[in-house]
Amino acid sequence: MIPASFDYRRAHDLDEATRWLGELGPEAKVLAGGHSLIPLMRLRLAQPSALVDIGRVPGLDTIRVDGDRLRIGALVRHAALARSEVVRRALPLLAEMAAEVGDQQVRARGTLGGVIAHADPAGDYPTLALMLDAEIVTTHGSHPARDFFQHLFTTPLQPDEVIREVTFPVAAGPHRYIKFRRRRCDWAIVGAAVQQSDGGWRLGLTNCGPTPMRARAAEAALAEGRTMAEAALQAAEGLTPPSDLRASSDYRRHLARVLTRRALEQAAA
Ligand SMILES: Cc1cc2nc3c(=O)[nH]c(=O)nc-3n(C[C@H](O)[C@H](O)[C@H](O)COP(=O)(O)OP(=O)(O)OC[C@H]3O[C@@H](n4cnc5c(N)ncnc54)[C@H](O)[C@@H]3O)c2cc1C
Repeated sequence: MIPASFDYRRAHDLDEATRWLGELGPEAKVLAGGHSLIPLMRLRLAQPSALVDIGRVPGLDTIRVDGDRLRIGALVRHAALARSEVVRRALPLLAEMAAEVGDQQVRARGTLGGVIAHADPAGDYPTLALMLDAEIVTTHGSHPARDFFQHLFTTPLQPDEVIREVTFPVAAGPHRYIKFRRRRCDWAIVGAAVQQSDGGWRLGLTNCGPTPMRARAAEAALAEGRTMAEAALQAAEGLTPPSDLRASSDYRRHLARVLTRRALEQAAA
């Protein structure tokens, strides 16, 4: 449970962070809230040669609406998202998701940018980012969410690339996110998110594949006028969820259908 030794540097701004990351090479890692990276280092599943701490870089903790986009700095923590009036008005589904991430300690330290960069298929925000066509803005440019979550823990981020902010479309219509988990502070065994936007439904699934997933067959069924119950039956169409100690692949497919129906019905109620 003791990490291997590593160099530690605290960046004062993003230029310094990217310069150091470039100099230190691909074995160096960005440190934000540390609530995914440090546990991995303690288990020695990650052994970075150096950490570049961006935790005190100014300007990365802002939340604002800019036209029809909600722009959220990479260092905004889960607890701040959950209580932000701006987020509650512009994209209440995100605030509700944030309130259900981990436990109080995780919500006090973990960041939006960290969850997105980590690209864990059990993470909650990647599902929302994918289904709503979020944009991940970095020191090197910007990535549409549909191109960002490439595989398990795999993104197009370069070793010296740092996420600055994530932008979501403003969407305040009917919505719901349901996480199926054994204890309240656990990660989702499966999660189903639904959001009505521009008159149609967007449906996303957490932990049903190597990346977040969109339930496109169910979205299409709703667009064709099928009932919510009928559409939800297609939520697992084309998915091959993982089997692990917590759930088999078949059980996850079952959960995807059941949770999508419940989320749609609760959103519409
Ligand atoms: C007990 C527990 C329960 C949890 N439950 C949940 C849950 O229910 N749902 C959920 O979504 N998450 C959950 N998490 C994860 C938590 O949300 C983490 O905070 C999050 O995954 C990572 O954010 P972080 O700021 O801590 O990132 P860090 O741990 O600091 O970094 C994670 C990875 O992202 C990279 N990174 C971080 N920030 C940036 C950036 N700005 N630019 C580029 N790369 C960056 C790092 O280099 C590292 O590879 C849980 C964690 C714990 C310990």
